[in-house]
Formats: sequence, structure tokens, C-alpha cells
Amino acid sequence: MSETIFHKILRGEIPSARIYEDDWIYAFMDAFPQTRGHALIIAKQGGGENLLTTDEEALSRIIRFSKKLAHAQMKVFQPDGIRVMQFNGEAAGQTVFYYHMHLIPAWKAYQGEAHGAHLGPFDGLVWQANQLAEALEL
Ligand code: AMP
Repeated sequence: MSETIFHKILRGEIPSARIYEDDWIYAFMDAFPQTRGHALIIAKQGGGENLLTTDEEALSRIIRFSKKLAHAQMKVFQPDGIRVMQFNGEAAGQTVFYYHMHLIPAWKAYQGEAHGAHLGPFDGLVWQANQLAEALEL
């Protein structure tokens, strides 16, 4: 797999608004959020470019954590729903070629920004990450 921006985030070479990490996974705020609370989950080990090349253990850790993070998003942001999105390959809309899952709060009255449209202010993302971290029930 080629080097991606998520490799740099995992190595701490560029900043991210971290929500949670353990030996397997790393969860952080999307820097170009589609809605308030837009989060990403990646694997720290076993992660491939996409679904087809990511280890099953890593996939399973990500999906299990997605339920906990979705509960935290409901508590903190009280959306009407949550979109779980994941793209495989450029044709499917993938832009960062390191397997990741999007969790995007959704409101009936607000459909959100286009994918990757606007950079969120970093201090706001850190505030959201801290709120989510506090609301997580592990
Ligand atoms: P995808 O199109 O599924 O590959 O999505 C990649 C996502 O990564 C997009 O939603 C981007 O907004 C997000 N992204 C890109 N660079 C960063 C970054 N440095 N920190 C956090 N999220 C990022």
C-alpha cells in the first residue's frame, strides 16, 4: 500500500482531532466534515487500502467500535440518524487509500456539505472529539 495522510496521522506527523485509540483502532474527526460530528475510524494494524485488502480482525474491530461511537454521537449531537459510509476505489469515491469508515450524523432538516468540501476549524474539531471521548461507553 502506498503512503497516505492517514499513515502520517498514525505516526503523529500531522495533527488530528483524536477521539479514541487502542492497540487496534484509531478514531478521529474528519477534517472536512460533511456534518457536525463527522468521524472516521481506521485500523492501526491490519489496515489495507480498502475493504478487499484489510484484515478481518481489523474490520471486525472497526465495526464493533462503530456502534460505540454511534451511541456517543447520538448523545453528543442528537442527530436524527447516522450515515455509515465507506468507499472502495477511486471510481467509488475513495480519496484516501487507507481503509476507513465514516460515521456521519444526519438531520432531517440538514443534509450536510458535499464530501470533502470545507475544512473544519481545528479547535472546533478537537472540542467535538473531546465531547465524543467523554460520551464513549467502552
Ligand atoms: P474517502 O473519500 O472515503 O477516501 O474519504 C477520505 C476522508 O478523509 C474525507 O472525508 C476527508 O475529508 C478526510 N480527510 C482528508 N485528510 C484528512 C486529515 N488530514 N484529517 C482528517 N480527515 C481527513
